[in-house]
Amino acid sequence: MKSRQPSRSAVTGPGGTGANSVLWRDRVTGKMRREASAIMATATPVPVSAPTVDLGPAAALSCRECGTRFPLGPSFACLECFGPLEIAYDFGSAEAEELRKQIESGPASIWRYAPLLPVPADVASKPNLNPGWTPLVKADNLGRELGFTAQLHIKDDSGNPTHSFKDRVVACAIEAARAFNFTTLSCSSTGNLAGAVGAAAARAGFKSCVFIPHDLEQGKVVMAGIYGGELVGIEGNYDDVNRFCSELIGDPAGEGWGFVNVNLRPYYGEGSKTLAYEICEQLGWRLPEQIVIPIASGSQLTKIDKGLQELIKLGLVEDRPYKIFGAQAEGCSPVSAAFKAGHDVIRPVKPDTIAKSLAIGNPADGPYVLDIARRTGGAVEDVTDAEVVAAIKLLARTEGIFAETAGGVTVGVLKKLVETGQLDPAKETVAINTGDGLKTLDAVADAGLTATIRPTLDSFRAAGLASA
Ligand SMILES: *Cc1c(COP(=O)(O)O)cnc(C)c1O
Ligand SMILES: [Zn+2]
Repeated sequence: MKSRQPSRSAVTGPGGTGANSVLWRDRVTGKMRREASAIMATATPVPVSAPTVDLGPAAALSCRECGTRFPLGPSFACLECFGPLEIAYDFGSAEAEELRKQIESGPASIWRYAPLLPVPADVASKPNLNPGWTPLVKADNLGRELGFTAQLHIKDDSGNPTHSFKDRVVACAIEAARAFNFTTLSCSSTGNLAGAVGAAAARAGFKSCVFIPHDLEQGKVVMAGIYGGELVGIEGNYDDVNRFCSELIGDPAGEGWGFVNVNLRPYYGEGSKTLAYEICEQLGWRLPEQIVIPIASGSQLTKIDKGLQELIKLGLVEDRPYKIFGAQAEGCSPVSAAFKAGHDVIRPVKPDTIAKSLAIGNPADGPYVLDIARRTGGAVEDVTDAEVVAAIKLLARTEGIFAETAGGVTVGVLKKLVETGQLDPAKETVAINTGDGLKTLDAVADAGLTATIRPTLDSFRAAGLASA
């Protein structure tokens, strides 16, 4: 029997509220409760009227904890239990074969999956950055070095419009922002999201005002600032930025703003499902056996699992076991620490790592990441900054892919998982590279010239580079 453990903490924003914060309010007694089972029993779904906005198959918001449904709107936490809200769908009764054909004849972007996303059917014709449909690279050289006997793939998301996977989530959030008549887009960002919001807002005709920790990499800051919106550096880390944004949402100062990863978070999160859809379609409508995914807030990992489950339910792929592995940097590894300790609750940390895009010390979806890793038989692991740098170089040297530090975390963890016997190199595996190394040049600044010579053959020979 499962021991009685404290329930996951309630979520009030992308940063969560911390292990020692509010848990659950029992609707009958008004007392705080600490067990998931008690919550299930006390919450009753309420009927939801038909959505008044056109967000395609999205039917309602549904509480991830208690299942209570709410009408589609710019909200992110359950009024009953403070649990996170996510999109509930009405996918209709399309035949799998028909749906597969429709997807395959769709655009070469995430919009080929519009029938499975909270977006209007004509989304592809609206001004947006059309992210996605990135390459699934057969990583044979890397696989050989790591001892794989089965196929290893890198899902390389560095080629998205602003060079990270964040373009996927922003593209979905922006459709919700249109539907709810927001005119300014905002976010709390570890760097990549700021650029993705700035660019998407520029294309789609929104104003933008985004918030980042003041000490990010120059590549991220310039990339976020170039699109003409407001870019505000906050003196503090991401968790401070996030706390500030949560305050701003409740204040007239931020009225009418769509924060893609706070009050639009349920819509934003769905964009990550497209990674799952693409991987399976690119494999020939098949589930991979193992997937390695980096964790910042944990949203991407949980939504990839949601996407895989949907494909199974819709009959688009055959059901078979798959394992999901999460990757963190040691200097910000609250989920990995909880996984290893067998805890259900995430203890927040103060991040200290070069993997700044993953530096969320209090990850909102951390508890769900734990659930998924445990349910699927995967794991959550972490690597040191030195291992991150080595992994960036390893991926570049073997596959010609230049990853940012988050990609270094993922590939470093992939290597460690194989070496420690947690991931089976005889099973088909996909690791996700979520960002571009050009944004985090400082991490690998020792790479570069291997020689400097005078423009003469003698000098060239003297450098030991001549073939004969
Ligand atoms: C934001 C980000 C992630 C993961 O973010 P989640 O909050 O876990 O969804 C991964 N890689 C990069 C490069 C990112 O910018
Ligand atoms: Zn709830």
